[in-house]
This record gives sequence, structure tokens and C-alpha cells, in this order.
Amino acid sequence: MAIKKVWIDEGCTACEVCVDICPEVFDLPEDTAIVKKGVNFNDYEEEIKDAADSCPVEVIQFEEE
Ligand code: SF4
Repeated sequence: MAIKKVWIDEGCTACEVCVDICPEVFDLPEDTAIVKKGVNFNDYEEEIKDAADSCPVEVIQFEEE
């Protein structure tokens, strides 16, 4: 399975867990986490899944193909 899309739904509480787990993909520029542009998600598949599992409000979403 390859990850083709990663996004963050509304409701992020800016806890920074995702950035701690995978700073190559997630960033927290202000009060909402974002997904960085131009990243090859498949280089960080495990970390993205770990971040999605670890997000306390479960707003990290990804799509596999
Ligand atoms: S882990 Fe979830 S709530 Fe925390 S900063 Fe990331 S997206 Fe936001």
C-alpha cells in the first residue's frame, strides 16, 4: 500500500504530537498542524500511521492506493 494523500481535519488542538513523531511531514506554524508540501509520503509511511494513531483528537487522515 502506498500513501497518496495526507490531510488534517478540523479540530487540531496543537498538541505537537504529530510534529514530534514526524517533523518531515507535519508542521505546526500557528495554532493548527499542517502537512508539508512536496513530501514523498511513502518515505514516512510508518511515521504517518503512527502519528494518525497517536493524535489525541484523531484528525490526521490519510488515503492509500
Ligand atoms: S497530533 Fe493531532 S491534535 Fe496534535 S498537533 Fe497533530 S494534528 Fe493537531
